[in-house]
Amino acid sequence: MPTTTAVPAGGPAPRVSPLRRSTRDSLPPTDPVATATVLRRALLLNASREPLCVVSVHRAVTLVLSGKAVVLETDGLMLRSERMALPAPQVLCLTRYVHVPYRRTVPPTRRTVLQRDAHRCGYCAGPADTVDHVHPRSRGGRHEWTNVVAACARCNHRKADRLLSEIGWQLLVAPTTPRGTSALLAATVRPHPSWSAYLAA
Ligand SMILES: [Zn+2]
Repeated sequence: MPTTTAVPAGGPAPRVSPLRRSTRDSLPPTDPVATATVLRRALLLNASREPLCVVSVHRAVTLVLSGKAVVLETDGLMLRSERMALPAPQVLCLTRYVHVPYRRTVPPTRRTVLQRDAHRCGYCAGPADTVDHVHPRSRGGRHEWTNVVAACARCNHRKADRLLSEIGWQLLVAPTTPRGTSALLAATVRPHPSWSAYLAA
């Protein structure tokens, strides 16, 4: 019988101050908090409030308990164990600025390309669940953002390894590389509504 449950808080959740490290150390790897939160995700901001990345809520809780981050937004759920109670983080902010020397890029994968193209086929605008290389890889096309589009299975099958010029097709929208942290995050995961204010910058 788990001793940890996620229950709605009785009102707006207070901001959380970093707890003592000894609290984190008291959590073994099999702690129910970890089990309950491993599938949830949170937006991590730099101390400058610039979006950095998306982390598991388990990782977010670890950052908060070690004093490295504070919770800015929560969905009202409280994560409870015998030793602690913590609002489930949805947006959190590092307490110290981390210098990011370069913008990390998100690779084009089936999931990120479908997300960028809103699951619409680049050839017929129908619902898409596959990814097509506009210039086929078998003919030298590269696996890069500007050469991949979401495609419905029917268009993907019909196009096969042919060039658009050979079959008289045109792309409805030219594929582009997602720009900026917000775009990259949006292309990577389905943003939670509470993230919108932080991703708008
Ligand atoms: Zn199609």
